[in-house]
Amino acid sequence: MNCIFFNGIVLTMNSANTVIREGCVVVEDDRIVDVGKYSELKYKYHGYERFDCENKIIMPPLINCHTHASMTLLRGYADDLPLFEWLTKWIFPVEKTLTPEDIYLGTKLAVVESALSGVSCLNTMYYFMDKEAEAISQAGLRGVVGHVCFSNNKKQDRSITFNLVRKWHNSKNGLIRVTVDPHSIYTVDPVYLKELHELKKDLNDKFGSPTAPIKWHIHTAETADELVKMRESFGSSENPEIKKLVDENYDGVFDYLNHLNVLDDQIIAAHCVHLTDKDISLIREKSISVVHNPVSNLKLASGISPLPKLLSNNINVSLGTDGPCSNNSLDMFETVKITALLHKGVSLNPTVLPATEVIKMATINAAKTLGWDSEIGSIEKGKKADLLIIDLSKPHANPLYNEFSQLVYALKSSDVDSLIVNGRFIVEEKTVRTVNVEETITKVAKWVSDRFPDKSINS
Ligand SMILES: [Zn+2]
Repeated sequence: MNCIFFNGIVLTMNSANTVIREGCVVVEDDRIVDVGKYSELKYKYHGYERFDCENKIIMPPLINCHTHASMTLLRGYADDLPLFEWLTKWIFPVEKTLTPEDIYLGTKLAVVESALSGVSCLNTMYYFMDKEAEAISQAGLRGVVGHVCFSNNKKQDRSITFNLVRKWHNSKNGLIRVTVDPHSIYTVDPVYLKELHELKKDLNDKFGSPTAPIKWHIHTAETADELVKMRESFGSSENPEIKKLVDENYDGVFDYLNHLNVLDDQIIAAHCVHLTDKDISLIREKSISVVHNPVSNLKLASGISPLPKLLSNNINVSLGTDGPCSNNSLDMFETVKITALLHKGVSLNPTVLPATEVIKMATINAAKTLGWDSEIGSIEKGKKADLLIIDLSKPHANPLYNEFSQLVYALKSSDVDSLIVNGRFIVEEKTVRTVNVEETITKVAKWVSDRFPDKSINS
């Protein structure tokens, strides 16, 4: 489509963080071809469809850099439990019974929830990722999908990951990308971590490119005892190489990963809550991107990431919701607000995490995390036409002194008016155009009542 979104407040999120009031964004097909004052561009483009954005913000959509999309099916299934018990007694057993069709259905719910709350792109790690990729691309959103790898599934993981990359990486008009995803250091042994790192290199040689890299997405330092749990899992291994690597002393999770020689700038490190000073210097030296998941970390009582310290070390930090079962929503507006508030409260310093910084984390920093910043994350000429339009007409959105403050502290996901991805309306005036929302919700309710017949979904 060729169109002009005009008269809005354009938050470009470019390197100068330019804000254009009474601005406009010109789109041709899937690209942004011009950005500027409407008064200056008004007569330059003829025959373009025009969308009046008066009293609206036009900004890059939010990017959810760490989630497990189809876990929407388990939203509220097991709450108020410690992480290890939550995973081993509740989540892992039920996950074993999920089918590819279940994953497709759960992801459909995740994409409509995400789209309606202004999210254009999900970085998601789970099983049957063909189905997540299918549901995400059918909805017209962007997805970075990775098959979660565990030591106890070595035989299948490698071929599943290879086939996923071959089939999906940079596919569907570039909407879908693939990552290699070791689950964590306590579920993936050190030798297998090294193998998966090699796999990432091989896949990049065959299928990746500098602007569409295949990244390595892993949970790191989520709880304080990950090195202890890693030794419990693999300390009695009969493989002498594993035994030797496990038995050495390490000054933190990243020190351990560094000894395995698997750290590089293609690592997406989710969580990073419990870090040593050595870990932080390694993250900085190796240009690793960190994904902060404050709601999940608070809900599972995992702790609080030393975010101000990471930022003062010039580390690229983006935001994620984590799975909709440990959050329990995919609402990035909520994550943005909690990020800003949490670190002020903990540090007793209201100047940390200013609003502009937090919006950067959810947009351009997120695109950098995914290796996608040459195409998305900001509104600039030549970039993909991904736009989020936010309505400022509600009482809580007024008056308006500062757009970034408003976004972080006052606006809500329900203020999302429209979402455009790759030049296509996914949400238009609060209505999802690409997925039948009511039908999806009904199917999910039926799935729950079929799967858990003895447990009423209302109890
Ligand atoms: Zn996670």
